Amino acid sequence: MKKKIAILGSGIIGLCSGYHLLKKGHAVTFYDRNEPGSGASYGNAGSFSDYGAVPLNQPSIIKNLPSYLFSSFSPLSIRWSYLWKIIPWALQFLKNCNEKSMRDTAEKMNDLLVFSLSEYDRIFKDVGVGDLIEKKGALYIYGNENKEQVAKSNLLREELKIKQIVLSKQEVHDMEPGLHPVYAGGIYFPNSWHARNPKKISDKIFAKCLEMGATFIQDEIKQIQSNTLTSENNTYAFEHLLITAGAFSKQFTDQLGEKIPLETERGYHVHFKDCENMIKRPVCSLDSGVYLTPMEQGLRAAGTVELAGLKNPPNPKRIKYVTDESKKMLSNLPDPYDSWLGFRPTLPDFVPVIGESKKYENIFYAFGHHHLGWTLGAVTGSIIAKLISKDGVNLNFSKYSSSRFS
Ligand SMILES: Cc1cc2nc3c(=O)[nH]c(=O)nc-3n(C[C@H](O)[C@H](O)[C@H](O)COP(=O)(O)OP(=O)(O)OC[C@H]3O[C@@H](n4cnc5c(N)ncnc54)[C@H](O)[C@@H]3O)c2cc1C
Repeated sequence: MKKKIAILGSGIIGLCSGYHLLKKGHAVTFYDRNEPGSGASYGNAGSFSDYGAVPLNQPSIIKNLPSYLFSSFSPLSIRWSYLWKIIPWALQFLKNCNEKSMRDTAEKMNDLLVFSLSEYDRIFKDVGVGDLIEKKGALYIYGNENKEQVAKSNLLREELKIKQIVLSKQEVHDMEPGLHPVYAGGIYFPNSWHARNPKKISDKIFAKCLEMGATFIQDEIKQIQSNTLTSENNTYAFEHLLITAGAFSKQFTDQLGEKIPLETERGYHVHFKDCENMIKRPVCSLDSGVYLTPMEQGLRAAGTVELAGLKNPPNPKRIKYVTDESKKMLSNLPDPYDSWLGFRPTLPDFVPVIGESKKYENIFYAFGHHHLGWTLGAVTGSIIAKLISKDGVNLNFSKYSSSRFS
């Protein structure tokens, strides 16, 4: 039966969900306070990281926590004024920083990631992304101090059958001669892709959705009830609703009476003009958490995790951190010409919520994709469209359900 579906939030998750729902013949209306694709989906590192199953909830985090807390120059930082607000989430996160939970998360993420590229392939062939996608793999580099952790992650990826090639220092140099030799070795992921301009890709998917009959309403939604969305001046009735508001989804699930512990891991990017040819493919430093990606805008350096909520202004120290760490990797970089702050949506077990809401059978959720939302857009859209259409009856997606927090 064809349904009328409202989608609240048109980032990559909302857009890909809309695309799949329209393909199944449903009627879709997108609601967003901004242009589609302008949230976290706008400024990410653009990596389709099909290899990214090993999560951040690793036992080593607990060991490194004191240095993270007291240094403003580390991959993870917490704004002190936000500390008390984040304590409940942080406690749940720390509870998940053990070997068993880490493996469990890695398996759940990998079950999605194995379909991430093939699902995008179907969409990209349809919307025509031309040269906006590059298929040159991605490179991780690391220093001596991280060798042990890297070896553990490599082993886990091997168990999950993720394609990776471990590289010596010389092999990293041969692959990316422009990199300053700050590394002890590397790992190459040959299958992954990257976007040369994430926003243009979102625009293409959105245009296709409009062509298939979708409607777009630009408005800031303040209130949700079981069958209405309310903004400052308007009330919109809906039959079915999908919440894909990224890191901003929690206010709505709270209003629906579900306590889902969604937080944001804030991240930043800067662009270095005319530097996109200094490397051939995305390069991520595991020591700093900074990801360099060649893009149309120049070289994009993205990364860091800042725990400071949705309302605090950008932190210039974090921007300086990304800039300085990029310059350690590529010594001739000029100063960046811009900077951007984005909000990763993250649950404390590092597994997204994809599925029906607990209380309303006409309301669905798809959010919480943390560092992998750009990669997981197409596969999430495909799953949620099956769930809403009830045509994936043989598939069990309960491991991504919000009921795990009840
Ligand atoms: C620095 C950084 C680097 C990253 N790099 C990568 C990467 O390389 N690879 C990868 O896979 N992932 C990466 N990510 C993560 C990825 O960008 C996110 O997981 C993904 O974009 C989340 O998509 P989304 O659609 O859930 O949310 P968003 O893109 O944030 O979309 C949510 C939408 O909801 C709308 N909205 C919110 N509140 C309201 C409201 N009240 N009313 C109306 N509309 C509303 C917003 O305007 C927005 O358009 C990165 C993230 C950051 C910050």
